[in-house]
Amino acid sequence: MVQIKTDLLKLKEHVENCKKCDLWKGRNKAVFGEGDENAEVMLIGLGPGYNEDQQGRPFVGAAGKLLDKLLALAGLKREEVYIANVIKSYLPDNKPKKEQIAACTPYLDKQVEIIKPKTIVLLGNVAVKYVFEKFKLPKAPMRDIHVKPFSVASLFLKAKVIPMYHPAAALRNPGLRSTIEEDWEKIKDVL
Ligand code: SF4
Repeated sequence: MVQIKTDLLKLKEHVENCKKCDLWKGRNKAVFGEGDENAEVMLIGLGPGYNEDQQGRPFVGAAGKLLDKLLALAGLKREEVYIANVIKSYLPDNKPKKEQIAACTPYLDKQVEIIKPKTIVLLGNVAVKYVFEKFKLPKAPMRDIHVKPFSVASLFLKAKVIPMYHPAAALRNPGLRSTIEEDWEKIKDVL
């Protein structure tokens, strides 16, 4: 357990000093990720917006408050899970470029390798696309795959991955909110 903490802290230091893609120039604070290093459930979102960049923490502000409520619907507290993002530096337009994803995801891969979660909840299309391509899962639109568990395995990991709408989608499109809330109630049975 101490080793997990040490490995994550070392990786965090790399991220905080990282200049591997152009996003470092607009960064105030890198958002490495946070939560229980021994969590069985890991959440992967997109990347830091303005509030996350100011605080250096994932999912703060309106999307963070909503995420806390959604976690509660699944019977979870924020401190019981680990939350990370595909992109670690401020992403002003929520649209990471291919080369930014390629530069940053080795950090995410390493986080997953260290934490070894049993379940990975993929929040939004970018996280789904990255993980589905990595594990060669069939491509499908979110409306067809949300809240469905898929099994993945590698040398370092054996887990379920569950695609979910990003909480910010409910803020942008209030019509989606009830679907997203129902998904989080359903996920309780899968976790
Ligand atoms: S987004 Fe990732 S790869 Fe790009 S500078 Fe930040 S930490 Fe490095």
